[in-house]
Amino acid sequence: MSILDTALLEADSDQLLVAVRALLTAKGILSPEEIAERISITDKGSPAQGARMVARAWTDPDYRARMLADATAAAEEMGIMMRGMPPLGVLENTPSVHNLVVCTLCSCYPRAVLGYPPFWFKSAAYRARAVRDPRGLVAEWGTQLADDVKVRVVDSTADYRWMVLPMRPAGTETWGLEQLAAIVREGDMIGVSVPTA
Ligand code: FE
Repeated sequence: MSILDTALLEADSDQLLVAVRALLTAKGILSPEEIAERISITDKGSPAQGARMVARAWTDPDYRARMLADATAAAEEMGIMMRGMPPLGVLENTPSVHNLVVCTLCSCYPRAVLGYPPFWFKSAAYRARAVRDPRGLVAEWGTQLADDVKVRVVDSTADYRWMVLPMRPAGTETWGLEQLAAIVREGDMIGVSVPTA
């Protein structure tokens, strides 16, 4: 595809977006304020927010328990606005179970917490291989899972979004919250990688 074709496609999608927003407002389905609020929630999302939740769960057993029971409430507790968003679930990695999140249908992702999904998350290759060969897939991120570790692949949907609580790496016992949050990457919360000290 030429640069010109790409530019034309982008122009078309911009016009389409403007038209859809105008229709939603005209039909009284959403107000311009609601659309603006939703855009602002998504724009505030970033892997750093998820990393703060992970670091707190590593250091605060009560928060960890609340997060595993109701991650939507646990996100709100950290100041992340979840109103109008699908419920969030957190999957805990353990020495015997490693979790990997995919949206097999499209690109469902906990955007309010982690922001926009990485480009590969939306690719047909990732979506297919996460199901067919999850061990081979995560190995491409350098994640070697022992044979006795069970890999659980979880489908994010329009109704429920998932994020992974990775295991706290050894050697970080004396670290504070900020230092811990700094080693938690986007892929660690999807399950393609694991944090290292
Ligand atoms: Fe999806």
